[in-house]
Amino acid sequence: MFNRVLVANRGEIAVRVIRALHELGVEAVAVYSTADRDALHVRMADYAVHIGPPQAADSYLRIPSVVAAATTTGSEAIHPGYGFLAENPAFVEACVENDLVFVGPPADVMATMGDKISAKRAMRAADVPIVPGTEGSTTISEARAAAEEIGFPVLLKATAGGGGKGMRLVRAADDLEDAFGTAANEADAAFGDPTMYIEKALVPARHVEIQVICDHHGNVLTLGERECSIQRRHQKLIEESPSAALTRETREAMEAAAERACRAVGYRNAGTFEFLLGPDGSFYFIELNARLQVEHPVTELCTGIDLVREQLRVAAGDELSVTGRAPRRGHAIEVRLNAEDPEHDFRPSPGLVSRFEPAQGPGVRVDTFIQSGTVIPPFYDSLIAKLVVWDADRAAAIARAERALGETAVDGVPTTRELALEVLRSDAFRSGEYSTSTLEALRSVAA
Ligand code: ADP
Repeated sequence: MFNRVLVANRGEIAVRVIRALHELGVEAVAVYSTADRDALHVRMADYAVHIGPPQAADSYLRIPSVVAAATTTGSEAIHPGYGFLAENPAFVEACVENDLVFVGPPADVMATMGDKISAKRAMRAADVPIVPGTEGSTTISEARAAAEEIGFPVLLKATAGGGGKGMRLVRAADDLEDAFGTAANEADAAFGDPTMYIEKALVPARHVEIQVICDHHGNVLTLGERECSIQRRHQKLIEESPSAALTRETREAMEAAAERACRAVGYRNAGTFEFLLGPDGSFYFIELNARLQVEHPVTELCTGIDLVREQLRVAAGDELSVTGRAPRRGHAIEVRLNAEDPEHDFRPSPGLVSRFEPAQGPGVRVDTFIQSGTVIPPFYDSLIAKLVVWDADRAAAIARAERALGETAVDGVPTTRELALEVLRSDAFRSGEYSTSTLEALRSVAA
């Protein structure tokens, strides 16, 4: 195991990774921007290095600053968390050039999977089902031809996409041209790359993803699914495992497909295969997230496996202690608390948290970086806390999530707490029969 590891992130995930390091007896090095001078991850770490001004582009995203922070502190490895540099192959290469172990997959695998088009090609080669659509940079006229062939509705997607940006649902041929223009502009602004492709839009569909971890000795462990269909603007709000939509056969087929894909592309470390699941049980690959996910605690609670600890062990060269299919039990639900204003179309609402009282008691885990008195800076994403509960079965877990969310108090900034309560209490959620369209439908009924 390493002696000292740099955590190239902030917020709740930096805190999460530092906890794993300390449990392993490893020293943690934090990095921080000026806006995070007093942040919890900085206070928890054994060493902390200031890497620049608040804007992420000048701090958390600046590869030379992060690498220099690692080398000057004698760190042996870098854990990237999620977001920022976590899926940037140039960062992985910079780590390798500086004799730093990157806790994640190799740069070439990351590059292939980071481009949605080359990822789809790699999955097709591994015999993993993919959504019908174009498999290369697509012009507007090619998109029109493809849409006629696969049928509306279609989804325009940016090859460099992420976080739902550069994505447009198109229901009719007349809307295609406008939607293509806005989506490409959005992608160009967000990723510096306007390249688009087109997919059949599967509606209704469910977003079900498979967690994997692979070591450097050819071993693969799949850890079951997370159901992530409760989404707003293609962004997840509540995740759970197991998924009420999966039969044992479909679950095994998905895990087997993920395992096959890992072996085919030479995957290493933790990753998540995202699939869309149709009402008939058919499933299609949409993307591989080559990193730890926000919702990883759901899997940790069901399997009892600490994914961050395993990531660090695997990166240090250890073999996985469990391979094949991870054993699992019970039911876990994660609720994301975002500092967003429901009165203003959920726009981010940073500011002073005057009081934070997290839920406590049986089966409750809270991953957060906020405390009473924390000021949420306006420069980063709006996730402030994750409330994750575990119980023996789904009904008990829902009751526990409701109880725990009821105990949770955040004063000072508006949050998504009420929205999550509304979802947990809805018939659609309770029945387990929901899709990626359910939340928007609930909202429009309420509006
Ligand atoms: P991003 O990388 O921007 O998060 P994803 O490809 O992961 O984008 O898709 C995000 C969400 O968009 C999915 O969870 C799903 O709800 C929806 N989605 C993506 N592809 C399709 C599709 N072909 N049909 C219907 N919905 C889709």
